[in-house]
Amino acid sequence: MTTADLFELPDTYLALQEEARTLGASLAGLAGASENIDGFVPEIRAGLAASGLAAVTVPAEFGGRYDQVDSLAATVVREALAASSGHLDSMFAMQGIGSFAISAAGSADLKAEWLPRVGRLEAIAGLALTEPEIGSDLKALSTTIEVDGDELVVSGHKSFITNAGEADFYCVLGREGEGYTLVLVPADRSGVVVTRPHGVMDHHVLGDVEFDAVRVPVGHRLGEPGAGFGHVLATLATFRVSVAGSSIGLAERALQEAVAHAKSREMFGTTLARLGGVPGSLAWAWTEIEMARSLTYRAAAAAARDPQGNLHLSSMAKIASTEMAGRVTDRCVQIMGRFGLVRGSTIERLYREARPMRIYEGSTEVILDSLSRQLLKGSSS
Ligand SMILES: Cc1cc2nc3c(=O)[nH]c(=O)nc-3n(C[C@H](O)[C@H](O)[C@H](O)COP(=O)(O)OP(=O)(O)OC[C@H]3O[C@@H](n4cnc5c(N)ncnc54)[C@H](O)[C@@H]3O)c2cc1C
Repeated sequence: MTTADLFELPDTYLALQEEARTLGASLAGLAGASENIDGFVPEIRAGLAASGLAAVTVPAEFGGRYDQVDSLAATVVREALAASSGHLDSMFAMQGIGSFAISAAGSADLKAEWLPRVGRLEAIAGLALTEPEIGSDLKALSTTIEVDGDELVVSGHKSFITNAGEADFYCVLGREGEGYTLVLVPADRSGVVVTRPHGVMDHHVLGDVEFDAVRVPVGHRLGEPGAGFGHVLATLATFRVSVAGSSIGLAERALQEAVAHAKSREMFGTTLARLGGVPGSLAWAWTEIEMARSLTYRAAAAAARDPQGNLHLSSMAKIASTEMAGRVTDRCVQIMGRFGLVRGSTIERLYREARPMRIYEGSTEVILDSLSRQLLKGSSS
């Protein structure tokens, strides 16, 4: 790499970006199709599967594109997909987020059984951490995992689980003795029950998953007993920054909508784009997007080298970019006036899609809390 290339994506990532943009463009017309259904939009699933892009979410040994799942690649892809369809972006991302613990800690048999199918989108992944009463304070969870002979028995209720009902397996976090363990539970096991008590404002396929004394072989434990939190952290370290990519793609798309509207709307003898605070508002949005992108690409490249060692950068990119997307989409709606509020319009969808990003995969406040602890721990004063 030359100095001139320092702030540009390498060619291989640019090619990947182009591939993801092409897929996004081909499915953009279906962006709103997930609004009133509980499951995947079949055409979007088929399009993502045919593209081969889901292979980015698993290691090369199991049909993936990179030796290890690559944070920069996931981030670049999500940026491109989220600009077209949040449903598509979520479908792509969850294959990695839901299966990462298998890649990191699964037995050879589990890896061989599931990862190639995850990468081809033949098996859909889910990660089940949250419970009806437990979100950020995950260590207070109540799901249990008990050994019974050569089986594990999983009992508990997981809530707000992305891909619930579509997933072929869930990586479930529960208490095992004094520690926390992740265990792979195939969705077709007896005792796995999916319900849909909540509908959310964005594109997520979401549900609750109850595990009623579900039995799986002991070999379905991911890593050692008690190592579950470590694998959750490793998942975040690889994928948290990709949420930042997603929010940048979404914000940029919102800005395009606002710019097109402001340029074409004539009022007070000129265009909206030249009126009052509108030009400055548009320029600020552009500036904020570029600032977020610079931090995010840097953080994602650092995470691709050393995910855990650079988690602070991924966390900063996540909060900076998702908060930015909240501000930018809000500003874009404001610029578009009543047209920004029309149900089913692109800008209204993007406005809703931006909001949950500040809550999942580490809410802004929880991330700020852990960043401040790290900062103060390292501070000499
Ligand atoms: C669209 C969507 C998809 C999701 N998908 C999944 C999934 O696939 N799997 C899964 O397991 N979960 C999933 N979740 C759940 C998600 O992980 C939780 O919403 C998240 O962990 C936050 O928990 P909570 O919503 O219970 O909020 P709470 O933990 O109750 O937090 C409420 C508020 O308090 C603040 N807060 C909490 N703790 C602190 C603190 N220590 N200091 C300061 N402020 C604090 C938070 O920032 C927030 O503003 C999903 C959620 C959404 C919205």
